[in-house]
Amino acid sequence: MSRINPGLAATLREPAELVGHGLAPAAALSDLEKVAARYAVAVTPDIAALIDPEDPGDPIARQFIPSAEELVTGPGENADPIGDHAHSPVSGIVHRYPDRVLFKLVHVCAVYCRFCFRREMVGPGKATALSQAAYQGALDYIRAHPEVWEVILTGGDPLMLSPRRLAEIMADLAAIDHVRIIRIHTRVPVADPARIGAEMVAALKVVGATTWVALHANHVRELTDKARAACAQLVDAGIPMVSQSVLLRGVNDNAAALEALMRAFVECRIKPYYLHHGDLAPGTAHLRTTLERGQELMRGLRGRVSGLCQPDYVLDIPGGHGKSPVGPSYLSDASSASPANSFSEAREPAAETRYRIADYCGDLHLYPPKP
Ligand code: SF4
Repeated sequence: MSRINPGLAATLREPAELVGHGLAPAAALSDLEKVAARYAVAVTPDIAALIDPEDPGDPIARQFIPSAEELVTGPGENADPIGDHAHSPVSGIVHRYPDRVLFKLVHVCAVYCRFCFRREMVGPGKATALSQAAYQGALDYIRAHPEVWEVILTGGDPLMLSPRRLAEIMADLAAIDHVRIIRIHTRVPVADPARIGAEMVAALKVVGATTWVALHANHVRELTDKARAACAQLVDAGIPMVSQSVLLRGVNDNAAALEALMRAFVECRIKPYYLHHGDLAPGTAHLRTTLERGQELMRGLRGRVSGLCQPDYVLDIPGGHGKSPVGPSYLSDASSASPANSFSEAREPAAETRYRIADYCGDLHLYPPKP
């Protein structure tokens, strides 16, 4: 595999720069400029170095290099696909579940993912961060809601803030008695690992609350030696990490890619947490798989790979109704004529038997009825 951009000095933000560095075809420039006028583009040197320009299906390029397909808004796609606005009581806060809030601090990212579920809210042209007044209003909201046990810092990418500003924010949150967990969602350790240094790690550790970091990565090649070293700094400092990935067509929608990614997370001491079904963000249909394909891949993962490597396959229900696991389910009612999740034809169960359960090979077994 060739690597033509190992030494870029700066993040690429313009389609013409992508063409100039061989990361997009010149013939696509006009379309890509239309895409870039609507959705932010950024490819860091670390990400550019991973892209093989000779591979038209490169799984890293598919995530970060814009495509004319983004100009088509598909059925059901909308600017707020997971319904953040419906649950935002004050600017910067999304309070969807009882015990936790999202705290959207910044609207910038190191890289802009082509499937981003907040693509209409992040990037140049949007406010880069909450105003001081909005920040204080968000803190007041959290203070006034003692049921908020966990604050999830998101955006944008919170690790785009300086260590000094992050330390202030962590201290403000940890000073609220009922806030016990601060979770940070980030792509920075893979997109710009040099940002993770001693100062950043120190900023994330705070007295009075426990910090967790959720790393967003979708392909094993993102977990370079530098990315792994950045994550190791966090974990060595006592910060537990979990993963979140998006199931993406042409990126990780095959058994080998998913298995390699999950194994790499665990090797990095990052517990696989979520595999998201792609959200209905505008212009992203070409990157979504079907739910059936997602379930099939999850069944395969269960069969082949350690339990440590199993994420939850989840869907954010459009309209703001939250995340639900979307299977596959291994348990079905034996009395039902056509169980929803039967993997293969099995012998008919006895009439009094209530359950059947599938093993990791897909074979069905009977389980006694309810007492
Ligand atoms: S890092 Fe997250 S918020 Fe930023 S573009 Fe990617 S998916 Fe969107």
